[in-house]
Amino acid sequence: MEDNAERMADLAERLAAVQRRIDAAVQDAGRAGDLPTLIVVTKFHPAADIRRLAALGVRDVGENRDQEASSKAAELAGLGLNWHFVGQLQSKKSKSVVKYAHALHSVDRLALVDGLERAIAAEQERTGRGALDCFIQVSLDDDDAGAHRGGVAAAEVPLLAERLAAAAGLELAGVMAVAPLGTSPEAAFEKLAAISAALVAEHPGATAISAGMSQDLEAAIRFGATHLRIGSDILGSRPDVG
Ligand SMILES: *Cc1c(COP(=O)(O)O)cnc(C)c1O
Repeated sequence: MEDNAERMADLAERLAAVQRRIDAAVQDAGRAGDLPTLIVVTKFHPAADIRRLAALGVRDVGENRDQEASSKAAELAGLGLNWHFVGQLQSKKSKSVVKYAHALHSVDRLALVDGLERAIAAEQERTGRGALDCFIQVSLDDDDAGAHRGGVAAAEVPLLAERLAAAAGLELAGVMAVAPLGTSPEAAFEKLAAISAALVAEHPGATAISAGMSQDLEAAIRFGATHLRIGSDILGSRPDVG
C-alpha cells in the first residue's frame, strides 16, 4: 500500500502542474478570466484518490464505466462532487447513470436520448434532481464515422441536438470530442469549434465544448474548450485492468 501522505503530495503536485498548464494556455489563447472547468478523470483509480482530490479542491470528476462510477459516487456521496460520465453508454444503463451523474458527455444516438428521457423523468419524480447536462459526442475522424473513438458525424449533430433540446429533464450543453489518433489535435479541435459554432447558431444555450485530455489540453483551450477531461497527468498511469 502506498503511503497516504505520499500519495496526497504526489496528487497535489501533479494537479498543480496541470493547473499551471491550463493557466498558461488560457493566457496564450487570450482567454484571461475564462477558465475552463477541469474534470479529473478518475477511472480505474480508487475512491481514496477521489477523496484526496476533493480535499485538494477538485469539484468535478469523470468516469467511463457505470458500475465503477455508481459505486464510487455512492461511497463519496457526502463530498458534493459533480460526476461526469464520459464513456460510451448502453441505453439500459440510463436508469443507473441518472442517479449520480450531473453531466453525460457521450450522447451519440437517438435511442439513448429515449432511454435517458424516461430515466430522468422517473428520477426527478423520485428525488427532484435537476436536469442532466448532455453533450453530443462528435467524431472528428475523417474516415469511417469514428469507429474507435466514438461519436456521431458532424452531419448528424443537428438532428440529435433537436431531439435533446426537446427532451424534458435533459439540458443540451454542447459538444464533446476526443482528438483522433495520429493527426494534429489543433486541426481536430478547430473542426470541433466550427461544429460547436453551428450548433450554437441553432441552440444559443449549447455553448459548452468538452475537449482536451492530458496530451492535448493546450490545443483544446486554444480552440475554445470549456470543459477539460484530464486523467493520467493528474493521477498517473492507470492500473492495468486486463
Ligand atoms: C480516460 C479519458 C480521458 C482522460 O484521458 P487522459 O489521457 O488520461 O488524460 C478523457 N476523456 C475520455 C473520454 C476518457 O475516456
